[in-house]
Amino acid sequence: MRSAFSGIIDEIPFINVDNFQNQDQSAYFLSHFHGDHIFGLNDLQFPRKLEENRSFIYASEVTVAIVESELPNLAPYLKILQLGRNTIEIQDKYEKIYLKVTMVPAGHSLGSVMFLFEHNKTVLYTGDFRITQNSVSKYTHLHKSNGEPINLDALYIDTTFQNVPSFPRRSEVIRNIVSYVKDWLSVDGRDVVLITSACYGYEAVCNELYSATGIKTFIANRLRWQVFSKFPKEMFGITDDCSSKIHLYTKYEFGKLSPDENTLQVYFSAMIWGPDANDEHCIIRETENRIKACFATHCGRDELIYFMKYFPVKKIVSFPEPFICNDSNLTDIYKRPINSKIEVSPKRPLKRAASNSPNKVPVSKKLNTMTMKNMFDW
Ligand SMILES: [Zn+2]
Repeated sequence: MRSAFSGIIDEIPFINVDNFQNQDQSAYFLSHFHGDHIFGLNDLQFPRKLEENRSFIYASEVTVAIVESELPNLAPYLKILQLGRNTIEIQDKYEKIYLKVTMVPAGHSLGSVMFLFEHNKTVLYTGDFRITQNSVSKYTHLHKSNGEPINLDALYIDTTFQNVPSFPRRSEVIRNIVSYVKDWLSVDGRDVVLITSACYGYEAVCNELYSATGIKTFIANRLRWQVFSKFPKEMFGITDDCSSKIHLYTKYEFGKLSPDENTLQVYFSAMIWGPDANDEHCIIRETENRIKACFATHCGRDELIYFMKYFPVKKIVSFPEPFICNDSNLTDIYKRPINSKIEVSPKRPLKRAASNSPNKVPVSKKLNTMTMKNMFDW
């Protein structure tokens, strides 16, 4: 595994985001706790460097809880940011700096966030994210008071699945899974295992299954249970009762078990799906007791391009790979060439296709992004 992001925000040189290998920064930000976003975080010298530099790591409440449980020696150096606007005081080498940071849900996993930094320049760092086209306009904090999208000096954006044209909506995939699970459990003596590719990112599936079946999902991993159980309102579909008929494991954890034919195995993955995946075709029944579900926690290319085009932006930096603009695949959504980093003249405003113009949505009608219930965007 390699780091998804260098950590460097050119416009704000005294911070690092999602990369902790440079240990002399004045402040660090963590968008979510996934292996490719935490390089350097578990370095044994890091707590000492944080102490020396009087630096802190800023993250959402959920991410702080995860780091506290995975890397307890970092606990004194973690600071929770609230969703919405924050102003933080950073002790740089020679001066105190006040940095405005607005945090909004990224729709990737429980507690995952995007950071909007304002310090001479306005910079949005998405972290890993999935936001559907219908939802962008509902993010109050990414709009001006008149309802127009904010102007960005720089957009740092996750392009992990830029080569997949489109993904089915997660709400639709779960609706399908619920139907398989209910059907399977209608016969006595059967159970279900949910098998995920990452440790975090599938939490809402447990809630939806509970709402549909009345069965809470057993979280086999003790550390994950401890984190989830701190957020009972957001994670109401889980239990530590191993007699539950639905269990959740990562692929690695499940590999050590020996399930029998009474167990329905539900595999979640976005990797195995090509251009065929859509709302209707989002489940493959591989065998009688094994299904695969297309469950993407990153944007497909259509959502990605919509998001990039939505904001008036001067510079785009993509990660983990440079964004490849291939017009033949882009149809009419996006015509402006984008490389990994581009500069756009501010005098020449970007032209939007009529169908993609940001609607002026009155602020009062926008989604309230201040609650953790909205951390998932379907
Ligand atoms: Zn991630």
